[in-house]
Amino acid sequence: CGIIGYIGDREAAEILVEGLKRLEYRGYDSAGIVTEQGELFIKKGAGKIDELKEKLRLHEMPGNRGIGHTRWATHGIPNDINAHPHTDCTGKIAVVHNGIIENYLELRSELEKKGHTFKSDTDTEVIAHLIEEALKDSSTFEDALRKALLKLRGSFALGIMYAEDKEHLYFVRNESPLVLGIGNGEMFAASDIPAFLPYTNKVVFLDDGEYAVVSKDAFTVKDLGTGKEKKKEIHEINWTL
Ligand code: GLU
Repeated sequence: CGIIGYIGDREAAEILVEGLKRLEYRGYDSAGIVTEQGELFIKKGAGKIDELKEKLRLHEMPGNRGIGHTRWATHGIPNDINAHPHTDCTGKIAVVHNGIIENYLELRSELEKKGHTFKSDTDTEVIAHLIEEALKDSSTFEDALRKALLKLRGSFALGIMYAEDKEHLYFVRNESPLVLGIGNGEMFAASDIPAFLPYTNKVVFLDDGEYAVVSKDAFTVKDLGTGKEKKKEIHEINWTL
């Protein structure tokens, strides 16, 4: 299971597919990618990355920002529908997740009562719908994100993107690893450094209960509980692949 994210000036899809390949050692049963060019594009399925790449032409997806995921199923069998990314009802919010949302059944039934329809059997899909719901009374996407995430119990590393917030990607860490890779006019995030090491050796380690707002030339790390900014050190990695 793994996550890789990219925002910058290059074609995101190729970098994401390569990054997923470098995370294969962690084990997985399915994989998927979301990119954005005007709207979100999502391709995903059960199987090996090389097979999915050829079958779905993953590397040809359009756009300069995106997030990739390898899934190790915990809730819902490994199939194309349960593969990540997952979306809300509008298809504008995409979420990838490693870990387990312990209270997803109760969140799901609350959301269903409010009219949300679910496509998958995963615990992850509730996150997209929770954000969609929170957006209704939030002034910014980031606000909605925080409100939604504070409802979750469990372990999660998350990569999140919103079609209408074109300058940013969002990453969250709670009891599941996530690091940022700081490039020159481009940014990366991943479950593990090798995923982006060919592009940058400058990394920022997220701690539990932190989230990052990432644009192509800046990043901000904040505390999930308080929303306050945290000062983070940039580490230089001096090993190669
Ligand atoms: N619990 C999620 C699922 O079953 C994420 C699994 C993972 O860590 O890849 O879809």
